[in-house]
Amino acid sequence: MSTGMHQHAEQDRLGDLRTSLTKQFEAHQARLTELTADTGDPGQALTQDALVAATRQSMAQIGDALRRIADGGYGVCERCGGDIPAERLEILPHARFCVPCQQRQNR
Ligand SMILES: [Zn+2]
Repeated sequence: MSTGMHQHAEQDRLGDLRTSLTKQFEAHQARLTELTADTGDPGQALTQDALVAATRQSMAQIGDALRRIADGGYGVCERCGGDIPAERLEILPHARFCVPCQQRQNR
C-alpha cells in the first residue's frame, strides 16, 4: 500500500514538473519569436544571435526533459542507470546524469 502511495506522489511530482517545464518552454518560444523579429538594428544582431542560440539550447534541454518524463525515463542517469537525486533535479530539471557521471562527462 505504501508503495502505491509513493507512486502516486511521484506521478504528482512529475505532473507538476511537466506543467512547469511546458510553461518554461512556451516562455522561451515567445522570447525566441521576439528575438528573431527584425529590429532593423545591425549593431544588435550579434547579441541577438547569441541570445537566440542560448534560448534554442534551453528549449532543446526542456524538450528533452519533457520527452523523458513521457517515456518514464526521467530522473534516471543516462550513463549508469542510477537515480538522479531529487535535490539535483530541483536545481537542474533537465539533468541527464547523476553528479559523479556528470563530473566524468565534463572531464
Ligand atoms: Zn550516473
